[in-house]
Amino acid sequence: MCKVGLVTPPAKSAIKLINCLQNILQAVFIFRLTKTLKQSGRFMRARIEIGYKAHQQTPLMHYNASEPDGVRPSVQLACYLGAMMPHSFEAYLDEQLNSLREQGVFRTLRELQSPTGPRSTIDGKSVINLSSNNYLGLANHPALKAAAIKAIEEWGVGSGAVRTIIGTMSIHEELEQRLTEFKHTEAVLVLQSGFTANAAVLGVVLNDGDLVISDALNHASIIDGIRLTKAARAVYQHNDMADLERVLQANQGKYRNTVIVTDGVFSMDGDIAPLPRIAELAEHYGAITMVDDAHASGVLGKNGSGTVSHYGIKHWDIQVGTLSKAIGAVGGYVATSSKLRQLMEHRARPFLFSTSHPPAVVASCLAAIKLLQSVEGEQLHQQLWENTKFFKAGLNKLGFNTGISETPITPVIVGDGAKAMQFSDSLFQAGVFAQGIAFPTVAKDKGRVRTIVTASHSNADLAEALNIFEHVGRSMQLI
Ligand SMILES: *Cc1c(COP(=O)(O)O)cnc(C)c1O
Repeated sequence: MCKVGLVTPPAKSAIKLINCLQNILQAVFIFRLTKTLKQSGRFMRARIEIGYKAHQQTPLMHYNASEPDGVRPSVQLACYLGAMMPHSFEAYLDEQLNSLREQGVFRTLRELQSPTGPRSTIDGKSVINLSSNNYLGLANHPALKAAAIKAIEEWGVGSGAVRTIIGTMSIHEELEQRLTEFKHTEAVLVLQSGFTANAAVLGVVLNDGDLVISDALNHASIIDGIRLTKAARAVYQHNDMADLERVLQANQGKYRNTVIVTDGVFSMDGDIAPLPRIAELAEHYGAITMVDDAHASGVLGKNGSGTVSHYGIKHWDIQVGTLSKAIGAVGGYVATSSKLRQLMEHRARPFLFSTSHPPAVVASCLAAIKLLQSVEGEQLHQQLWENTKFFKAGLNKLGFNTGISETPITPVIVGDGAKAMQFSDSLFQAGVFAQGIAFPTVAKDKGRVRTIVTASHSNADLAEALNIFEHVGRSMQLI
């Protein structure tokens, strides 16, 4: 690290000696602190939050100390200093919140003061609601409400345990049976939400030595599910099958299980994943196929049974669905083989460690799945698509840019994020609620308001909404 040169003049040697001792002391100090910080779990946080600042302020930063974890020594040292500073949690919270404000993304929650529906009372104002995922209007449907109330009378409000202890009631079994028939798969496992369904199945399928290949625009719950595993990861460009093949080719023979995972319908653009090509590539390269059908459940395929049915695909390994959107209540499920279901029953962590659905939820989901397969369900499904076509055509005729949507999710792309937010606010003032969406959720120049029509919007609702879009769009010179 340093040498004391005997040939150098005494004064210089003395300085060098002092420097050297200082260096050694610092090195010991640093080494000990690294250990303590690592053990106490503060190491990472300090490195990220405080390290950078200390790095800029302290000359000591360039000191060449130990290099654990391959982190640059200067940053390493910064972290000790940072972590040692008296730390105010409140100051940390202020810093984070202020940073959100500076980026212009701080927001308060809108308050829904009526049931969700085609028209809702939002923040004291009655508006046409174009932002719910209640595609079929089931969230407030009399049959579902009656089933929920009856289930509370019969079964109470809670299940009392996780599924694997004694939280599996007959109605939980019945829902899975019904979903299995609905999805035409060997088995279905129900979880607390679509979010946990993704985490559950990814956590069971992927391990050390496996590879997951994920569409660049996949939902956060897929990304987080993947993060919880030890598998290697790769991303392919959104819906780009040549890029997917490139990744498959580059990794051929290197991993045990390779999983290709995609959203069925993408929530920001309303486009559909090209499952037939994914299935072909998967077969050719020996990969496992997984689709997250949150926005396709109840929307695409026979009786709304999803994208695999929509395309008429014969073999698909894992279909995740949600019960929280078109199905009207809350929950998620994995429709797959009996073997994978059995393994999930033993290994899927949200299944093992979080309480099962309350009876009211299970009963409303059961009622919803029955309804989807009835004449009324067919009618709602048809109405949803008629409304979608009517509204999309109306927006296009007015000259709005609706992107590449193929589903009831129709974005109205205006460009700048701030403009999108202003558009959403003005629409609200004029009587339509359509959420504004800006960077980083979408690209910087692709700011938009996102609309979702439902089966329960009347023609008059949609015509009025189009009028408001026209009026506001013109006044903002968007059309
Ligand atoms: C909404 C959504 C989820 C989460 O489903 P929940 O049931 O609300 O937890 C998962 N994946 C996608 C693609 C979604 O859009």
